[in-house]
Amino acid sequence: MQIKEIIAKKRDGEELDLEALRPIVDGFARGDVPDYQMAAFLMAVFFRGMTGGETAILTELMWKSGVTFPRAEQTDFWIDKHSTGGVGDKPSLILVPLVTAVCGRLLGKSAVRIPMVSGRGLGHSGGTLDKLESVPGFSPKITMAHALALIEKNDFFMMGQTEDLAPADRVMYALRDVTGTVESIPLIVSSIMSKKLSENLNGLVFDVKSGNGAFMKTAAQAETLARALVEVAKRKGVDAVALLTRMDEPLGFKVGHSLEVEECADYLRGTSREKGLDEVTLALAASMIHLGSRKKISLAQAHKECESELVSGRAFPIFVTMFEAQGGNWRKFEDHRRSGCDKLLCYAFASPKNGYVAKVEAHAFGVLLNAIGGGRQSTDGVIDFEVGMEFKRKVGDKVEEGEPIVLVFFRDEAHRQAIADTLRNAVHVTEARVQSLPWVLDTLE
Ligand code: URA
Repeated sequence: MQIKEIIAKKRDGEELDLEALRPIVDGFARGDVPDYQMAAFLMAVFFRGMTGGETAILTELMWKSGVTFPRAEQTDFWIDKHSTGGVGDKPSLILVPLVTAVCGRLLGKSAVRIPMVSGRGLGHSGGTLDKLESVPGFSPKITMAHALALIEKNDFFMMGQTEDLAPADRVMYALRDVTGTVESIPLIVSSIMSKKLSENLNGLVFDVKSGNGAFMKTAAQAETLARALVEVAKRKGVDAVALLTRMDEPLGFKVGHSLEVEECADYLRGTSREKGLDEVTLALAASMIHLGSRKKISLAQAHKECESELVSGRAFPIFVTMFEAQGGNWRKFEDHRRSGCDKLLCYAFASPKNGYVAKVEAHAFGVLLNAIGGGRQSTDGVIDFEVGMEFKRKVGDKVEEGEPIVLVFFRDEAHRQAIADTLRNAVHVTEARVQSLPWVLDTLE
């Protein structure tokens, strides 16, 4: 079948099989199918959608355009987590050490392994790789051989997508980005899952977020995406669970790269546990442990075991290893946090009245972080890791007039007015009592 016939079939709403999808995906990855034909195909998928079966075939072709992590035997359980991203979204940094600590203690070393392939910041939402890189020396740019050695030694690694992991996704994503075809469920699912399948996983836990700070603005859109992700994972033999979580308020007390790493360290030491971060992280950790134990450990027990790890602080040294195994210097990071951040300016937003914090808009804080230098303006842009914000009060908390709700750490005096304007519009205080809402809205299996 010629490429133009395949495009026309999709344009007319027909379901495509492997024979039809292979030439366009393989041909585009090889450079034989031109951008204009792939762009037309992507737009046809955008408008016509794809069935679960079609999405699974597309995913497999994108995955098989590159390499897969080799595994000699499958007595161990390889599990990862994927978040659709948001503001202050830092659970991955906690989950790796926490799940490793719990599973190592209950199931023995290497029973559960976490090969984590993460991404960089996208738009107003931060990326795990960028946060990891805020620790001096840390490098996510490792080869497959290095990653395999790390997983053998520590039961986990943290890396970015390489040239040979799902290369079809890389070129298709770049084209989607400039053709208005990013927001298509089958294209999002195949993009995410092609990279995840390259990890040769047994299990996968999704954190699909909704709200003004998320990729999916409504809970209904998030649920559709979550169902499609779980369906493709299961069709490919990966046990999967999706948690639907809220992203209308920043997650945790801190937003900004170094600040978030610091919050994760404090969380694992048991000295700072913000309610939302705690709820989301423990739900994800429990699901990873439950799946990783091949369901021998119940969700309730997994929760309890995580609590015990946090009280004892036993997962904290694993957190330090997560950086140091890949060149990071944790001592330098901590020394700098203690002494070096005093060059930053600080803007405190005080409550205008006595009352309760009613709303803190996640999207506005994501945009503000970018505006003060804590995000990338272009793909090769440089991030200021130190800037960010700290929430002294969260939604539902009581505040008195003049009490600080949020502190913004910034470097350039010229940003002061934009910070003041954002905070005035993004933080709302009411006299009526406000209850904070649950962070985990639903779980889909
Ligand atoms: N993340 C991805 O990897 N791909 C998408 O299409 C969207 C988010």
